[in-house]
Amino acid sequence: MPPGRMREATIDVGAIAANVGRLRHLTGVEVIAVVKADGYGHGAVRSALAALDGGATRLGVADVGEAVALRHAGIDAPIMAWLHAPGEGFEEAVARGVELGISSYDQLLAAAAAGGDRPSAVHLKVETGLGRNGLPPAEQHRVFAEAARLERIGRLRVVGIFSHLSNTSEADDRAALARFEAALGAAAAQGLAPRVRHLAASHAAIALPEARFDAVRIGIAMYGLSPFADRTSADLGLRPAMSLRASVAAVRRVPAGQGVSYGYQHRTSAETTLALVPLGYADGVPRAASGGGAVRIGTRVFPVAGRIAMDQFVVDVGDHPVGVGDAVTLFGDPERGLPAVEEWADTAGTINYEIVTRIGARVPRRQVSS
Ligand SMILES: *Cc1c(COP(=O)(O)O)cnc(C)c1O
Repeated sequence: MPPGRMREATIDVGAIAANVGRLRHLTGVEVIAVVKADGYGHGAVRSALAALDGGATRLGVADVGEAVALRHAGIDAPIMAWLHAPGEGFEEAVARGVELGISSYDQLLAAAAAGGDRPSAVHLKVETGLGRNGLPPAEQHRVFAEAARLERIGRLRVVGIFSHLSNTSEADDRAALARFEAALGAAAAQGLAPRVRHLAASHAAIALPEARFDAVRIGIAMYGLSPFADRTSADLGLRPAMSLRASVAAVRRVPAGQGVSYGYQHRTSAETTLALVPLGYADGVPRAASGGGAVRIGTRVFPVAGRIAMDQFVVDVGDHPVGVGDAVTLFGDPERGLPAVEEWADTAGTINYEIVTRIGARVPRRQVSS
C-alpha cells in the first residue's frame, strides 16, 4: 500500500482481461461485458477497458447515465443500457451512440423519436419469466410489428433481442429459453432479423450452452467471481480481480475481560492483543459479519472481534506480533493464500456480488496488473 494510505482495494485489470478471454474461449460467442454499478465496484472505465482488451466487443450497463459516463471517458465501443426512468427521453443516449434496451411500446417510440435523422439502435427485451421488465408475450406482436416498420423507414435499427434468466433451476431456465425462442420466432415473422440475440448472464453462459446464442452478458465472472454457490473461482478458471486491504491503525495489549466495540459483543477471555482495522460498514464491510468475518495478517488468519462499526473494526490477534502499519487483507484471490470474498458473503448472509459492489467510495482503488 502506498505510504500514508490506510485502506485500499487493488483491482487487477490483467485478471479482468484474462477472465474475459477465458469466457470468450469457453462460450465461443461474443462477450458483452457488464460494467454497471461502477463495474461491480471495480471501476467502470478501467473494467470496460480491461474487458475490451480481453476480447469483449460490447459493453452493458443498467442506466443511460452510466453509458454516457463511459463515452465521456473516451470509450467508443458499442454500449447498451436497459433500465430507464419512466418517461425518460433518449436524445443524449442516441446522440452518443448508446444502444437502448427496450421493454415497452412507449420506450420503443421514445427511442425512435430521439434519433432525428439518424436511426436509434435498440435491443428489444422480452419477458421470459423473471418477472421484472421486458415485453410480455401479449405486447410482443405490437412492438415487433412497429419496430419492423420503424426499421423499414430508417428510424430504428434493431441490433438485438434479449432476455434475462432467473437461475432458479435448469428446468426453469430451459422453460425461459423456450419462451425466448418463441419470441425470436415471432420477431422473425414480423421481418426482424437482429444480429445479436442474447439471453445468458454469467451463470447460464457457463452452465447452459444452449442459452449462448450470439452473445453472453458477463458480469460477475469477468471480475473473477463465481455465480455458483458450489463452484469456486478456481474451479471455473477465473481470477478474482479485487483485493481489499488496510493497514493496522493501532494495537493495544489488554487484560482478560476487556469489552470490544459497541455493545461489548465480544469480551477477551485472556490477556491478548487487539488490532484496529480502519475499514467499516461505510466502506462496505458488512456489519452483519460482526464477530464472524476473518482477515489475514502476515501468514495468519484472525477473527473479527465484536461489532463492525462505520469506520473500523477490531481483530483479536492473541500473542502474535502484530504492529501498527501491518497489512491486513480482508479478501482477495484464494489461490494466492488470501481469504475468499465468499467467506465474507456467507458470514453476512449475502452473495459475492453484493460484497464487491458495495465497497464504498471512501476506499481508494489502485489499479494493478498481473
Ligand atoms: C447484471 C446483469 C447481467 C450480468 O449478470 P452476472 O450474473 O453478473 O453475469 C446480465 N444481464 C442483465 C440484464 C443484468 O442486469
